Amino acid sequence: MTQQHIAILGAGMAGVACARTLMQAGHRVTVFEKSRGFGGRMSTRQTVFGSFDHGTQYFTVRDERFALALTTVPQTVRPWSANAVRVLDPQGRMVEAALPSREAHYVATPGMNALVSRWAEPLVQADAVHSETRVVKIERDALNKQRWQLRTVGADDAQQVFSGFDVVLSAMPSNQLADLLRASSLAQPWQQALGKVEVAPCWTLMLAFPQAMQARMQALGPQWNAARSTHHRISWVARESSKPGREPIERWTVQASPAWSQEHINDNPERIIDKMLKGFAEVTGIRATPSHAQAHRWLYAQTLTPLGQSHLWDARLGLGACGDWCLGHRVENAFVSGLELALKVA
Ligand SMILES: Cc1cc2nc3c(=O)[nH]c(=O)nc-3n(C[C@H](O)[C@H](O)[C@H](O)COP(=O)(O)OP(=O)(O)OC[C@H]3O[C@@H](n4cnc5c(N)ncnc54)[C@H](O)[C@@H]3O)c2cc1C
Repeated sequence: MTQQHIAILGAGMAGVACARTLMQAGHRVTVFEKSRGFGGRMSTRQTVFGSFDHGTQYFTVRDERFALALTTVPQTVRPWSANAVRVLDPQGRMVEAALPSREAHYVATPGMNALVSRWAEPLVQADAVHSETRVVKIERDALNKQRWQLRTVGADDAQQVFSGFDVVLSAMPSNQLADLLRASSLAQPWQQALGKVEVAPCWTLMLAFPQAMQARMQALGPQWNAARSTHHRISWVARESSKPGREPIERWTVQASPAWSQEHINDNPERIIDKMLKGFAEVTGIRATPSHAQAHRWLYAQTLTPLGQSHLWDARLGLGACGDWCLGHRVENAFVSGLELALKVA
């Protein structure tokens, strides 16, 4: 094997699965991530009341390669049950409708971002990660036209050029990759393929009720810890404090439905909080005023129409792409996509 210098853009599940595999195969890997930490949409928000998994809620395991990889981090992965389904009955009341699915659900501890962070440790130890570094252009290396260089912007708006890459692999969401390819005037056929991938937004509300600890209000709330719902605004609610390894203060994460999120995509967060709180009360019966209410807008949350193949790879150019959007809308899809791209390149 000839060692190659490989740039990976994005340190979510797909990017880290890809980077680790290529590093294990003996390649020199450099990861660029625009945020401060690892995990992308497997993210955890810290507040004074405790943490919120405001992106991925839980994950399922169907691919044996993902199952095997998870056995390497037994302390970081715990079962957690998403255990109810709430639907509107003919009178318009939210009721429990069906038994939960039998498929096992898992979360990372102490927060959802911990899984990717754990898997990224060898990359950090090898000094192979540039965080807070957004890639804004891919272009031919000024000194060697067979290679690639990347133009980047840092947190302080500092611009830098990183050069000497044999291969560039994107592990960014599809819309952001399409923008980058356009800005770089690259891979026209991929731009068309990416145009067919559809991804829905998601407004997410984080609520904390510290008063529940004193008043034992948990008993007033629902007996379940998480539920899907057919409410026109709310598609999912989960009691964060029920997840293993979390702080005990009563906290809920609430997701708006894709259609409602799209309809209200440009509303201001105060208006979103108001409306989602009403929906939350209707789904859970909890009408107390939260001490903490914060809304987060995910512009690209859930793949509706995937690419339909696990990755994109052009061996002649030395360009590739992976991400959940290749196969679906789940964490495991991101892992499989990153892994299969790495195996192709290695
Ligand atoms: C609200 C919400 C709820 C979800 N719930 C679930 C669930 O319950 N179960 C489940 O399995 N999945 C769920 N998902 C989906 C799951 O989070 C994704 O499938 C998975 O995390 C995608 O991983 P990824 O690596 O493909 O992309 P991402 O996690 O999006 O990672 C991409 C990374 O690229 C970085 N990046 C982007 N542009 C640049 C750039 N120009 N330069 C450098 N870095 C860049 C980003 O900062 C990010 O870290 C949910 C997602 C959301 C948003």
